[in-house]
Amino acid sequence: MSLATPYTDKTDEQKAICEMVRQFADEQIIPNAEHYDGADEFPEPIVEQMRELGLFGVTIPEEYGGMGLDLTTYAMIVEELSRGWISISGIVNTHFIGSYLLMKFGTEEQRQKFLPRMATGEIRAAFSLSEPELGSDVQAIKTSAKRVDGDAYEINGQKMWVTNGLLSSLVFVLVRTDPTADPRHRGMTCFIAEKEPGVAQGTGAYAGFDVPPKIRKLGYKGVESTELVFDGYRCPAENILGGEEAGLNRGFSQMMDALEVGRVNVAARGVGIAQRALELALRYAQERRTFGKPIAEHQAIQFKLADMATQIDAARLMTLRAARMKDAGERSELEAGMAKLFASETGHFCVEESLRIHGGYGYSKEYEIERLYRDAPLLLIGEGTSEIQRMVIGRKLLQRYKA
Ligand SMILES: Cc1cc2nc3c(=O)[nH]c(=O)nc-3n(C[C@H](O)[C@H](O)[C@H](O)COP(=O)(O)OP(=O)(O)OC[C@H]3O[C@@H](n4cnc5c(N)ncnc54)[C@H](O)[C@@H]3O)c2cc1C
Repeated sequence: MSLATPYTDKTDEQKAICEMVRQFADEQIIPNAEHYDGADEFPEPIVEQMRELGLFGVTIPEEYGGMGLDLTTYAMIVEELSRGWISISGIVNTHFIGSYLLMKFGTEEQRQKFLPRMATGEIRAAFSLSEPELGSDVQAIKTSAKRVDGDAYEINGQKMWVTNGLLSSLVFVLVRTDPTADPRHRGMTCFIAEKEPGVAQGTGAYAGFDVPPKIRKLGYKGVESTELVFDGYRCPAENILGGEEAGLNRGFSQMMDALEVGRVNVAARGVGIAQRALELALRYAQERRTFGKPIAEHQAIQFKLADMATQIDAARLMTLRAARMKDAGERSELEAGMAKLFASETGHFCVEESLRIHGGYGYSKEYEIERLYRDAPLLLIGEGTSEIQRMVIGRKLLQRYKA
């Protein structure tokens, strides 16, 4: 009899998809990650196979060509992809957020225009809030848009840390449209900025939209993170998310809503990388011998393995609980924030413990754990740092349990 709790129970469909993605990770991602990480090269052959498997359309409704699956199933898939390499989940992550924004807030025309091509992965989406001078303080955004003649808005300013910034065709970008708004968040709009993928300097309809060379990073290689420079880029008013009438100055709340599902997604990535770190530690601990026996037989090592496995179990339960609550239409900001905080810290904890178990070899590029150790810290930062998660959790607690 299965001892699985309802949170981890999988339907037959979920089991089949997770097995397929796990096999894909074992056969295609893990054996090739070292090469693409070392060269910091976009893993196009892996991405092409992901297109064939339909992984860019997991949550997009069937009527737009996707699989129409829920956030819970998506979180299970993201865990498997991240167990392979978190850069691979990064390639779908911003795309998933973009498709969520279109499904929840887009006009029917916008959905028809973008979702079918997004579902196949023909076009991919990026998500841009951060700027050189801000990340946590989203309300301080300076990039601005002004209405100009001919039904367009002119965007000026600079964005920072845009994952998939170069190779995406669409960027969901939050900019200031009313500098006098008080509170500040009421003066922001989300534009769907179109561009040619892979082109650093926009021309023609995309003139004034440039992508500087990718940022060199500690880890999370293969997927590009870039700045974006808007210098007089004209975005048609019809590309305001939700249309001009409904969407103008509504961007902040739209983006914050999307971040909630984004947090479940990052939590799933934390579980995936932690799971891989544990697998590597379990294997190495049974192979490596010191003082006449496998290190796995030393109690200190067993305690590390026990702590890792316990935290992973808790992180997975929290992640799936937050996803299931969202799918059931319940308010889940608190649970999503707690899952993101705990699972990303678990990812970081587990890669460090696994590295320690590997001893000196953990510090060598010959061993996979070295890459995981460089990759994991991103999860503590992206989509809200651990400090910001604690602020969100504290605020939501006080709202929920108002005295
Ligand atoms: C590889 C990578 C990919 C990314 N991809 C994207 C992307 O696709 N799109 C995007 O928009 N952004 C992206 N980001 C940006 C990311 O979201 C920000 O880096 C993050 O939100 C933190 O912002 P910051 O770096 O400006 O740090 P800051 O906001 O300057 O914070 C610096 C430190 O101060 C702490 N801090 C800030 N405010 C408070 C407070 N009130 N109380 C206590 N502590 C505080 C923070 O927790 C942090 O420790 C990416 C970042 C990285 C590294």
